[in-house]
Amino acid sequence: MRISEMYAPTLREVPAEAEVISHKLMLRAGFIRKAAGGMYTYLPLALRVLKKIEQIVREEMDKAGAQELLMPIVQPAEIWQESGRWSVYGDEMFRLKDRHNREFCLGPTHEELVTTLIRADVRSYRQLPLNVYQIQNKYRDERRPRFGLMRGREFIMKDSYSFDRDEAGLDVAYNKMYDAYTNIFSRCGLNFRPVEADSGAIGGSGSHEFMAIADSGEAEIVYCEKCQYAANVEKAELFPLEAAAEEMQALKEVETPNCKTIEAVCEFLHLPVVKSVKAVAFKSEKGLILCFVRGDHEVNEIKVANACGVPEVEMAPEEMLTAAQTVGGFMGPVGMDTTKTIVLIDNTVMKMHNVCCGANKVGVHYVNANPERDFKATIVADIRLMQEGDPCPHCGAPVKVARGIEVGQVFKLFTKYSSALKATYLDEAGKEQPMVMGCYGIGVSRTMAAAIEQYNDKDGIIWPVSIAPYAVIVVPVQMKDAVSVAKAEEVYQQLCQAGIETVIDDRDERPGVKFKDADLIGYPLRVVVGPKGLAEGKLEVKARKTGSVEMVDLDSQYIDKIKSLLAAL
Ligand code: ATP
Ligand code: MG
Repeated sequence: MRISEMYAPTLREVPAEAEVISHKLMLRAGFIRKAAGGMYTYLPLALRVLKKIEQIVREEMDKAGAQELLMPIVQPAEIWQESGRWSVYGDEMFRLKDRHNREFCLGPTHEELVTTLIRADVRSYRQLPLNVYQIQNKYRDERRPRFGLMRGREFIMKDSYSFDRDEAGLDVAYNKMYDAYTNIFSRCGLNFRPVEADSGAIGGSGSHEFMAIADSGEAEIVYCEKCQYAANVEKAELFPLEAAAEEMQALKEVETPNCKTIEAVCEFLHLPVVKSVKAVAFKSEKGLILCFVRGDHEVNEIKVANACGVPEVEMAPEEMLTAAQTVGGFMGPVGMDTTKTIVLIDNTVMKMHNVCCGANKVGVHYVNANPERDFKATIVADIRLMQEGDPCPHCGAPVKVARGIEVGQVFKLFTKYSSALKATYLDEAGKEQPMVMGCYGIGVSRTMAAAIEQYNDKDGIIWPVSIAPYAVIVVPVQMKDAVSVAKAEEVYQQLCQAGIETVIDDRDERPGVKFKDADLIGYPLRVVVGPKGLAEGKLEVKARKTGSVEMVDLDSQYIDKIKSLLAAL
């Protein structure tokens, strides 16, 4: 490819709307252009990267025994009504009607479609196991599309679905996918970590997320350096922290005027925050949920929803608090009617002694409250977010916290969809059984963004060779020097013939402009051909990643030399 002909419009200015580095660089380097919020055109360079990632995904999926197919993006409402998700999916689903007023959606995911497909074609245990995948645009009307390709409303996903006779079969399928994902993200050059993920109502250790480590990631993960434990904070389990034994004191009301936060209350009363209990109120389909955690701890909404058996929770409005005879800023568990309100107390709170908590009256708190004596809970559970330094649930060592970008997820569905959609098979005894399913997703377009988040510098992108749009750029530096221009052309042709994906910057531009663009786009190797080097029979080869420059002899071995420089990156 000749740069003079390439459609890769680079920009000098950093576009104002871009917050994260991958978004900025993809706009500046001419990889993407916005069509609407969360929807982008992939320009030729981006498409090459996506195709490379897709190729790696295909090879690893095929190797793991999954078979590629392609389902429609537009899906009929009926199958979603049958599974019960048409009404619960909410505003994230793009819905449309055809000319006959029939309802459809743009697929946000394909469990319904694949399950109804397989149920029609698979009858016997002999046809199982089966694992199918596709690579396709997905549509989710995200509340906050942002960060360019990281959270789009149209994005490319690889999704696969496994069908087995039983849980033992599902375990095999799941482990194969887990290993394939490990290979895929390694081959893409990412620094990633598989972490235990929340599996919602299904529970158990039925899901892992593959997190690309990056400060810009929207997910928070915890990991232990002593053992192999790693989890999404949403999922990370916490055992109750023990508090030193103390004699119970008499419960006492105290005035805490104008103290709206737990920190303010503790400062006013000269108490350490660890001797306080704070409240967070949620609204749910089961009504008000009042949660209580230690003053310095944070509530984990996912754990709250799981503990109460509701799909999700949101902040409770003040009217709900008034109806429950309490008030924001002064909520406490003493005297709460646990039949009308779900009082959900964190397991660590129940170990505390002589604590301060709200008294459900404006400007009043209790001191010397003793949970085992004074608190009545509807549910006691682990509901807090793990923090840096909390004990690892496996080995007890203090955990570390990092941020990650979820690039993939593997999930045991068990019979959730096969039961709802009646996808059954006949077992060896001729008995009808629900198929046992798993689903596995990779954000292909998000993976491209994640790679840029990990590999960039002030000058631009630094592509891992395996997913770079091109491996090498040949730069003739003196366009007026016909000899070196002709030599550059020859080198370009020879590299292409040797199967190395190469571009030549044949534009009549100053070397500085060419170097800047080459760095911005992030070709792994830059080969400079100029009169100075040629005078000594040499090419100047610079690695984008390390910045190291090597003068390579322009002899019969030079292509092998470039290949080995690429392989070493
Ligand atoms: P998130 O929690 O980030 O919203 P998710 O858990 O809803 O993602 P899945 O349903 O597990 O996503 O989808 C599989 C993969 O698709 C994710 O691991 C992620 O890499 C990718 N993905 C999901 N939503 C988006 C999006 N809006 N834009 C780009 N990629 C996405
Ligand atoms: Mg996910």
